[in-house]
Amino acid sequence: MKYVSTRGAGPVNLDEALRKGIASDGGLFLPSRLPAFGPDDFNAASDIRAVASILLRPFFEGSELVSDIEQILAETYSFPIPATPLPVADSNVSMLELYHGPTAAFKDVGAAFLAACLSRLEGDVDAPLTILVATSGDTGGAVAAAFDHRPGMRVAVLFPDGRVSKRQEHQLCCWSENVLSLKVQGAFDDCQALVKAAMADSKLSSTYRFSSANSINIGRLLPQSTYYADASLRHFRRTGTKPGFIIPTGNLGNGFACVMARAMGLPIGPIVFATNSNRTIADYFESNEWSPRESLQTLASAMDVGDPSNMERLRELSGDANALRKQLAVTSVSDEQIKAAIRQDFAQFGIATCPHTATATHTWRHLDPDARRQDWILVATAHPAKFETIVEPLIEESVPLPAGLADLLSRPASAISIQPDITSLAAALTDN
Ligand SMILES: *Cc1c(COP(=O)(O)O)cnc(C)c1O
Repeated sequence: MKYVSTRGAGPVNLDEALRKGIASDGGLFLPSRLPAFGPDDFNAASDIRAVASILLRPFFEGSELVSDIEQILAETYSFPIPATPLPVADSNVSMLELYHGPTAAFKDVGAAFLAACLSRLEGDVDAPLTILVATSGDTGGAVAAAFDHRPGMRVAVLFPDGRVSKRQEHQLCCWSENVLSLKVQGAFDDCQALVKAAMADSKLSSTYRFSSANSINIGRLLPQSTYYADASLRHFRRTGTKPGFIIPTGNLGNGFACVMARAMGLPIGPIVFATNSNRTIADYFESNEWSPRESLQTLASAMDVGDPSNMERLRELSGDANALRKQLAVTSVSDEQIKAAIRQDFAQFGIATCPHTATATHTWRHLDPDARRQDWILVATAHPAKFETIVEPLIEESVPLPAGLADLLSRPASAISIQPDITSLAAALTDN
C-alpha cells in the first residue's frame, strides 16, 4: 500500500507516513487506493480486534510492521467499545461508547495504535524519540497514556497553564518518567507555536529526535475506522439494515474515519457530522465556500476548531461541497442546545452525556421524521465524568467516575512550568 499527500507528494509506505505525520509538501497522507470489502468478508471475525485485523491488513502491505500486526492490535484494543441500545420506542438507536480507554475519550484508540506502531519503528533506548504534543485538553492525555512506559520513547506534553480543567490537568501530569508535563505560561496557540518552532529548529530536532503524534497522522485515522466497521457489522447481522451514524465533529478526524469505512464497503447508511457553534463545515455545505476562521469557545471544547484540517482529506476522497452534500449531512449545535440535550438525554435515556456527545443526541432528536425511522448509532466521544463541571449542574446529580479515570486521578501529578520560548523548552528537555 502506498500513501500519497493530498497535495501530490509521495508515494511513501505506511512506515514513512507514520514517521512523518505530515507530508513534505504540507499535505496530509491518504492511502493511494482503498481496499474493497463486503460484510461477508468479516464473517469469521467475532470481535473488534478480529475485524481490525481483516480491515487494516491491506494498509500494512510493504510495511516493516506486517509481522507485528496482531501484537499492535492487541495493544490497541485493550478496552471494550460497545454499542449500547437506547430506550427508544419506534426504531433501533444505540450509543457507540468510545470512552472506555485510559483517558476516557475516543482519542485513546488512535493514540494507542500510533504508539504501538511508532515505538516499533523508532523506539531507541539510547536515543529516545521525543514526541512533542501541544494540547488544549484531551489529546495530550491520550498521547501520554499511549506512550507511557514505552522504552525508547519520550513524550513532552505542552499545555497552557490555567486554561485546562482540573481533571484534564491531572491527566496530563500523572505519568511515568518518560512523559514530561510542561505547563506553558501562555495560551494554547503559544504551545502549538512552540512545538512548530522546535520541530523546525534543525539542531534541537536532531538532538532530541522530535516527532509529533497529532490528529492528522494517518496512524490515528486508520484505527478509528475499525469501530465504525465493527458496530455497523454487528447491527447489519442482527437487523439486516445499515445503520446511520451521527458523529460529533471538530477537526473531522473521527468523522472522516467513518466516511472511509463506508467507502471500503462496510454496511453504513447515512452519515451526519454534528458540529458545535464553529460553523466552518456547516457553512461550506450551505454556501460551497470554504472559509476557515478563528475558533469560538463552546461547551464542547474539544470540537472548537475553526479550520478543520481533515477537510483536505475529505475533499480528496469524496469531492467538493456539491458532491459532499449528496453523501453527508452537517448540523451546527449551539451551547444552549447542548445544555438542553444533556438534560433531555438524562430524562429520556437515563444516562449522562458529555457536551460533545450531546451535539449528536440533539441532532438525532431534530432529524426530519423520515430520517428518524432509520436505525441510528449515536457516537459518544467522551465520558461525561471528564466534563463534570458542565454536566452535573444540568442533570442535578453527580456523575460517577469510571474506574480507569478514578485510578489516574488518584496518582501523584507534577508539571514543570516553562516560558513560551524555545530556550525554556530546550532547558526543560535537557534537565529532565
Ligand atoms: C477530539 C474530540 C472530538 C472531535 O474529534 P475530531 O476528530 O477532531 O472531529 C469530539 N469529542 C471529543 C470528546 C474529543 O476529544
